[in-house]
Amino acid sequence: MTKKSRPRASENSASRHIAVIGSGIAGIACARTLVQAGHRVSVFEKNQGTGGRMATRDTGFGGFDHGTQYFTVRDARFEKALSTANGLVRPWSTNTVRILDEFGRVVASALPPKEAHWVASPGMNALVKHWAEPLKTSGSLLLETEVISIEADKLEPQRWQLQTEGVGNGSRVHSGFDDVVLAIPAAQAQALLQSSRQGKAMVKALGKVSVAPCWTLMLAFPHAPHPHLAHIGPQWNAARSTHHRIAWLARESSKPGRGPVERWTVQANPEWSQRHLEDDDARVKAKLLKAFSEVTGIRAEPSHAEVHRWRHAQTMEPLGKSHAWDDKSRIGVCGDWCLGHRVEDGFVSGLEMALAIL
Ligand SMILES: Cc1cc2nc3c(=O)[nH]c(=O)nc-3n(C[C@H](O)[C@H](O)[C@H](O)COP(=O)(O)OP(=O)(O)OC[C@H]3O[C@@H](n4cnc5c(N)ncnc54)[C@H](O)[C@@H]3O)c2cc1C
Repeated sequence: MTKKSRPRASENSASRHIAVIGSGIAGIACARTLVQAGHRVSVFEKNQGTGGRMATRDTGFGGFDHGTQYFTVRDARFEKALSTANGLVRPWSTNTVRILDEFGRVVASALPPKEAHWVASPGMNALVKHWAEPLKTSGSLLLETEVISIEADKLEPQRWQLQTEGVGNGSRVHSGFDDVVLAIPAAQAQALLQSSRQGKAMVKALGKVSVAPCWTLMLAFPHAPHPHLAHIGPQWNAARSTHHRIAWLARESSKPGRGPVERWTVQANPEWSQRHLEDDDARVKAKLLKAFSEVTGIRAEPSHAEVHRWRHAQTMEPLGKSHAWDDKSRIGVCGDWCLGHRVEDGFVSGLEMALAIL
């Protein structure tokens, strides 16, 4: 890291160029706030699309929200931002989320949810995609571009440069950044800062954060009766389960704006996911499918079954503050894991990160 002091935002606010790594809700909330304040922002995303864990998997049978299931809104700033996403965010009547025992019996239900359950439509990834559109149009969003190192800029050592690996365009160096924001899961932020030998104090602070993995199963039953007439299996649309493998089940086709084919998303619990983290897909699929049958009573063979492994899914121990920012190096970190495990935590964290830079 350079010994020269880096310029502060207030010294040269009009011409600041800020790199945001990660285009989940935290990264995009941060980036759009910085752009709205007049800064130049480049967002780097290793995946093909934006949204991160607010994800939708498209299949021939319809989409699956295989990450975030729904979100709740408690922060007025999040509520205000959502009001700009005209029509994209809709309430999901989960017909009250049930609580099931190990055998799939309903042990608690019927209480109307205290808070509305919101989903983006037509898929969970639509919200962040919408907010990222201006960045995409202006060429400030670099998809399929993984940041592998953060270094002092070779030409202007008081600034930063990023080394990236991109699909199709190989290794590249992007230079001239006044500030760098890592809006990625804590373990990945830690690894990137460590390998880049930046932000040692921050690396240490991130060590207390703990995030559990999650295996997700996606199932489609196209031969089931039309959903408006009858369902196969249970009459509820979403449930938390105490089954030793499964924590959550939701009927995708019950969400607003989705296709009609009977589809289920099933999420394994953190302990089981951790124990089976390195198992192969076929083994995990077989075990979760068996558990799904036990819980729902659905014995029909699905026409579509696939699993997805989230290595960094649910925060178990958060950082305890909305973001971390090192004023000397002008590197910051944000993400849901700073505050908790919810979409809104990601939004608030990204917003607070941007406000700290401003
Ligand atoms: C299975 C599951 C179920 C969930 N259910 C719910 C729910 O019902 N309700 C709820 O509120 N929340 C839920 N969550 C949590 C919610 O998804 C997160 O809180 C939120 O999406 C986190 O957003 P984020 O921007 O902090 O991180 P992410 O969404 O993880 O975004 C980080 C982004 O950074 C990118 N990235 C990482 N490293 C690099 C790199 N080196 N270079 C470039 N890009 C990089 C990633 O590809 C990703 O797009 C769930 C999560 C999972 C996985």
